[in-house]
Amino acid sequence: MTLHIPTPLIESRPLSLAAGRNIWLKLDALQPCGSFKLRGVGHACEVHYARGARHLVSSSGGNAGLAVAYAGRKLGVPVTVVVPETTTERAKELLRLENAKVLVHGSSWQEANELALTLVGAGDAFIHPFDDPLLWAGHASLVDEVVATGFKPDAVVLSVGGGGLLSGVVEGLQRNGWADVPVLAVETTGAASLHAAMQAGHTVALPRIASIAGSLGAKRVAEQALACTRRQPVHSHLVSDRAALQACERFLQDHRLLVEPACGAALALAYDASAMARYPNVLVVVCGGATATLEQIQAWLRQVD
Ligand SMILES: *Cc1c(COP(=O)(O)O)cnc(C)c1O
Repeated sequence: MTLHIPTPLIESRPLSLAAGRNIWLKLDALQPCGSFKLRGVGHACEVHYARGARHLVSSSGGNAGLAVAYAGRKLGVPVTVVVPETTTERAKELLRLENAKVLVHGSSWQEANELALTLVGAGDAFIHPFDDPLLWAGHASLVDEVVATGFKPDAVVLSVGGGGLLSGVVEGLQRNGWADVPVLAVETTGAASLHAAMQAGHTVALPRIASIAGSLGAKRVAEQALACTRRQPVHSHLVSDRAALQACERFLQDHRLLVEPACGAALALAYDASAMARYPNVLVVVCGGATATLEQIQAWLRQVD
């Protein structure tokens, strides 16, 4: 038994018509806590539990924290999540619904993270949101499930924040002998830390994050994410916040699923016929995200230019 569930792989008629290509969706928005994060986080929590950890600590007010909270409740161990003051009421409420202890500290993730690290006692486990081999191994299960269906895509589209999903998907592609399948790695222009790393040839810290796609807001990607771009064909793509938000609205119409702008970024590329032109069969990782509401997406759309 794993904490995550195997998710459906469906051919999307609306996206296929928009892109002029066959677009397949791996629906990880349907994971119990709303995003793919449960694959890697669930795996990491199970490994730490088996090694004796009886308290889990996270500093993510987003989907990683939610996945830790869900995993802790399922494993029967307490979870503490330290979040910065900027975290929305909605995110805190979702964490409390999973019985996590929520501590609000500091004005930025860095400050929340510093406090979180001081709370990790001997035998406790700290679960990083993207930079941990246990996470990547868990995320790789997404590719195993696709391989098991017998469908081999000509390209994989996914969103990149800190690069944990990218690292896991590339691990999955490689362990299944699919090292030839290109990955289209999508970021919003204001959170383009992988793009910057690929240009520089080494990871770089962005001076600031300027995107409404909060779940993509890692200032620096994991070293592993950049290393993946040397082992697998990885093409970096950027979309605007507006395009990501519009893709969220369109996807809600088309598939009745509400996802975060972080996921809308990948969907925006998949809806774009020119970006998809080279690939007859495309797999889109619908990574999901639980923290956005429709009201918030519509309000953001009125704000961005
Ligand atoms: C975490 C997250 C991402 C980015 O994943 P990384 O592993 O940080 O690259 C994208 N979309 C959603 C919904 C997420 O929760």
